[in-house]
Amino acid sequence: MASLFMNYSWSAKELAPSSRPAGPAAGPAAVRSVVIVGGGTAGWMTALILARSLIARGVEITLLESPTVATIGVGEGSTPWLRDFFFRLGIEEAEWMPQCNATYKCGVRFDGWSRRPGFESYFHPFVSPLDNLTMTQFVHNAEARVRGANLHAHPNRFFIAERLAAARLAPKPAESFPFDIWHGYHFDAELLARFLHKKALERGVHHRTCHVTHATLDEQGAIASLVTRAGETIRADLYVDCTGFAGLLIEKALKTPYVSFADVLFNDRAVALPTPAEGPLPSETVSTALRHGWAWKIPLTNRYGNGYVYSSHFCSADEAETELRERLGALDAQTPARHLKMRVGRVTQHWNKNCLANGLSQGFIEPLEATALMFIQITATAFAEYLERGDLGPPAHERFNRFVNELFEGVRDYVVTHFKTNTRNDTAYWRENAANERISEALKQLYFTWTRGKSIVARVREHTSIGKAYPIVSWYAILAGMGIFPDPRELHAPTATEARYEMAEIDDLIERSAANFSDHRRVLANIPPRRKESLTTYFWW
Ligand SMILES: Cc1cc2nc3c(=O)[nH]c(=O)nc-3n(C[C@H](O)[C@H](O)[C@H](O)COP(=O)(O)OP(=O)(O)OC[C@H]3O[C@@H](n4cnc5c(N)ncnc54)[C@H](O)[C@@H]3O)c2cc1C
Repeated sequence: MASLFMNYSWSAKELAPSSRPAGPAAGPAAVRSVVIVGGGTAGWMTALILARSLIARGVEITLLESPTVATIGVGEGSTPWLRDFFFRLGIEEAEWMPQCNATYKCGVRFDGWSRRPGFESYFHPFVSPLDNLTMTQFVHNAEARVRGANLHAHPNRFFIAERLAAARLAPKPAESFPFDIWHGYHFDAELLARFLHKKALERGVHHRTCHVTHATLDEQGAIASLVTRAGETIRADLYVDCTGFAGLLIEKALKTPYVSFADVLFNDRAVALPTPAEGPLPSETVSTALRHGWAWKIPLTNRYGNGYVYSSHFCSADEAETELRERLGALDAQTPARHLKMRVGRVTQHWNKNCLANGLSQGFIEPLEATALMFIQITATAFAEYLERGDLGPPAHERFNRFVNELFEGVRDYVVTHFKTNTRNDTAYWRENAANERISEALKQLYFTWTRGKSIVARVREHTSIGKAYPIVSWYAILAGMGIFPDPRELHAPTATEARYEMAEIDDLIERSAANFSDHRRVLANIPPRRKESLTTYFWW
């Protein structure tokens, strides 16, 4: 299923097929009440997804939120999946985006990760049906260049998303241009949680402010009840752990084992610092490699979100803050920085007995590709589909957990690729990342195939985890974008077959397409309703 990202929407039935037939809308007979613990983005997204599917079937959903534990308050970028989240809930961009100071995101620009000449910056595009016009040419040129042909194979010139981002255009075409452009968003994390909270209450979710001290277990080791600080006991048929890194139910109560990814993803800290909005409004996230990690720059309508994700094994919190402030020209600014700890890895069972973990409590891959909200959405949607079918037994748990684990591993491998293929060489941090041999076997085979000049399509297809996380073209984009090609001095002049495509024609196609898009800020001032036509699929295998 290498096509997971194709439509940025999917059915859990497709990816985690049930051995039980989907019956009529009978509802989960055994489940009449669900309690979600945690009121961060994970808690409210889960509440809305479950509410859409279960409230009409008579299931009661209650969300408990501690008055004393704050939400993490970061997480300002998304993948295109978030579009589908709002669409399925029937919430228009024109409603939620202004309330969250949100902007459009065409993709992520990676600056300074590679020192290979010509590849110092590359853009990971959110790929759209329009890219069908130029994707074959990109893949052809990339494969030919790996085999030694001197052809242009940097991804940036082949994708409409990069062109839009470079010109600060919104990924919303003119009415007359019949293409749907896939895009993500940037948003204020706190405002988004507040918006989702309001929507969930409107849709029948109950909310209570109380601090849960612990869970009691029954004889089978499942959760029997929750106990609050006020001494109250709360019971439900199903519990959802959205308590963030605390993992109150999934880890502290149920002792679910945890798999760390720290041996391949070194970053375990972040420092965040907002800066004022100025100038034209970008429609991209910029991720810039720094000395011991990388910095994000995320445009909102009223400010920039900035942060430095780094490894505490290589750099102290003070050093990181100073490096970030220097970079932002904010050494003397009074704005306080926020320091955060991150735990990178996942639990072995996201669904354990009568408890689902969602959000940071289930695991976290560092935020380089902004995938955390996508995990929340996929986990909750898949879970809702299991519940709808009443498919709740141990085989269902096993299928569900295998599916979510493969997704985690696939995204991990994609994120690891940025670090593993870096060519900075200026600090021990980057050298150790490049030399790291603990990467997964699937990734080693993929690199081996690429550097032999063979098509990586079969490799991506055969490794479920790699194929589930990103479409094949994203793998081409990162390997080509990081410049994993022979030394330019070893390249030969292309043969006529190799030089099949004219870059001038590709540039012209992209340029003519881009003429149908408008300035980002102007579009945000008058957000168009979602277009009626269904998403057409694209794809190059
Ligand atoms: C540096 C950084 C950058 C990130 N960037 C991105 C990004 O760009 N894109 C993205 O998708 N994600 C990103 N993330 C991840 C994203 O922030 C989270 O996945 C998202 O906010 C969901 O968090 P959460 O709801 O799981 O946890 P939290 O926000 O921590 O919420 C936990 C909730 O549980 C409640 N709680 C805790 N203990 C108890 C208790 N005992 N009783 C009752 N309630 C309790 C708290 O009150 C709170 O409401 C980033 C994360 C970090 C650390």
